[in-house]
Amino acid sequence: MNTTTDSRENTSWRCGVRRVTPYVPGEQPRQKDIIKINTNENPYPPAPGVAEVLTRYESGDLRRYPDPEIGDLSKALADYYGVDPKQVFVGVGSDDVLAMSFLTFFNSGRPILFPDITYSFYDVWADLYGIPYETIPLDPDFKIRPGDYVGKGNGGIIIANPNAPTGDFLPLSGIEQIVSSNPDSVVIVDEAYVDFGGASALPLLQKYDNLLIVQTFSKSRSMAGMRIGFAIGNEEMIRYLQDVKYSFNSYTLSAPAIAAGTAAVKDAAYFKETCAKIVQTREWFKGELTKLGFSFPDSKANFVFAEHPLVPAKKIFDAMRRAGIYVRYFNKPRISEHLRISIGSDEQMQRVVDFLRDFLERETPEE
Ligand code: PMP
Repeated sequence: MNTTTDSRENTSWRCGVRRVTPYVPGEQPRQKDIIKINTNENPYPPAPGVAEVLTRYESGDLRRYPDPEIGDLSKALADYYGVDPKQVFVGVGSDDVLAMSFLTFFNSGRPILFPDITYSFYDVWADLYGIPYETIPLDPDFKIRPGDYVGKGNGGIIIANPNAPTGDFLPLSGIEQIVSSNPDSVVIVDEAYVDFGGASALPLLQKYDNLLIVQTFSKSRSMAGMRIGFAIGNEEMIRYLQDVKYSFNSYTLSAPAIAAGTAAVKDAAYFKETCAKIVQTREWFKGELTKLGFSFPDSKANFVFAEHPLVPAKKIFDAMRRAGIYVRYFNKPRISEHLRISIGSDEQMQRVVDFLRDFLERETPEE
């Protein structure tokens, strides 16, 4: 950069710009004929009631603002999870809920803590809001060691459970150890993947006032395109979140999203059935991956984080992509030999296994 540009940088409007290194979302290719297992979407459609609500939706009603309290959906969630509606905060996907939570709760000036390998939006929000942070290494098996979060002064803690992109689930005793030993910090548990075999920390809300649980409709409720997420915590915490929301954008969820989300929550049977199906496919897929020589943490999410001992992950990733199979590859320290493979339908996963078998046979010929 020459000096002229430099001085312009210092005097022009550019010196007032908030410069950030943004989160990089997974690719969203438009072709229909690919196997898209790169962003942990659900292969099944949302509950039938969702289609019904959207088909019947009166477009004339769109001239009005939506309910800023998102009352119907908060009430449906409160009923489903056995809490008071005042304990529920709803946002535009859990990314919105998490971003609001960072803005609301992580203001002490002390560093917040999260694992070195986790959802790669946490450090982005911390940088965006100027929140200092410290990452705590997962153990060599990619597990969270709860003891690492004890006795460490901090301004808050966020744990994804199951963790992403590893899929590893920290038993609730571990979550409780972290929450109970940090009574002066808000501990956020990001449960984006909890419906695929983990256990929610919800019961701990009765014992601890510093816990906030965040979930999403994007994975287990098949509604990534609708953008709905929510937090459950004690009433006081939720009030603080609402205040910040109303200081930022009071009409967050669209009216169709509120109606569709409410219909989804009311169909518990469909929700349980599709989650069980994905768990079944995942367990089968794990067995097939093992036969092909892959290793992976024991995922309780709708993806598997797999590594092959002989073939570099990037090479497998490129070959899969050429074959129209999109998975996620992170070129980052500690995980650059892994691929995150979302769980699709049985038929899709069979095609993935068939492809990998052929590919690995070619790549690792027997002596
Ligand atoms: N948390 C984790 C751990 C995730 O993997 C994701 C998905 N990218 C999210 C939160 C955000 O999901 P959404 O905004 O679609 O609810």
